[in-house]
Amino acid sequence: MRRLEDKIALVTGGGAGIGRAISETFAREGAHVFVADIDGDAAKTVADAIVKANGAATAYAVDVTDTAQVKALMETIKGAHGRLDVLVNNAGIGERADFRHMDDESWDRVWQVNVDGTVRCAREAFDLMRASGKASVINLSSVMSAKHTRQMSVYSATKGAVSALSRSLAVEYAPYGIRVNTLLPGYVETALIGRYLSNPMIAKALLTQTPLRRFGEPQDIANAALFLASDEAGYVTGASLNVDGGMGTTL
Ligand code: NAD
Repeated sequence: MRRLEDKIALVTGGGAGIGRAISETFAREGAHVFVADIDGDAAKTVADAIVKANGAATAYAVDVTDTAQVKALMETIKGAHGRLDVLVNNAGIGERADFRHMDDESWDRVWQVNVDGTVRCAREAFDLMRASGKASVINLSSVMSAKHTRQMSVYSATKGAVSALSRSLAVEYAPYGIRVNTLLPGYVETALIGRYLSNPMIAKALLTQTPLRRFGEPQDIANAALFLASDEAGYVTGASLNVDGGMGTTL
């Protein structure tokens, strides 16, 4: 028996990096995965790869900052399946800049994607998840939510908000059989931080903060997401799980 057999899952930002690994892992474990991404071509590439590997997936182009688009996505899932068992709020962006030089526009954009996107999807998916009866929401925070690093103010602030929001949602959604948990990755090799890791000096400095002395791979995060999505985690809600090679312990 596969661990997500017959479950309906939605992964935002599923077209690349961690979201792609989560989408492919969930599909291998039997879920029908809605791969949703602002980059519709990337979502299609991932969904096509899943189907080619005999999995079930639907590509969907969506900008999580747009309420009408998110509502339309939920309507599509409702029409096809009538319920949603797993929601992974993974879509996220970063911005490295001196706090005092950040303009409103760049601050708002990161906030809109990382926080409001998570809020919007968790809110608009509520009826579908209630229809599931035992649904799981997994929000991507970051070890940066608790770490003080130069030029990461907006990213850290948004991830702190995601962590706090997740705890509140865990309480509010519990009566409806919806669990809400948070993943806190450390440094994971994806496009998001690729330009820092490609600088040997920076990469070396970042590794010294990681007791396991390696960067994470998207699959490391997908493995943890699989547990939280599965019924094995049926008594786990409001939890924050560091998947960071021990980086959180060095803060
Ligand atoms: P990534 O840049 O590789 O992929 C992010 C995906 O999200 C892309 O496919 C992108 O098109 C999509 N996306 C961006 N804006 C969107 C929007 N408005 N609507 C829909 N989709 C959108 O990033 P990643 O490294 O895979 O990060 C995934 C999540 O994990 C993010 O929330 C990130 O903050 C978090 N995270 C990453 C790391 C890391 O080291 N890579 C560490 C901690 C947390």
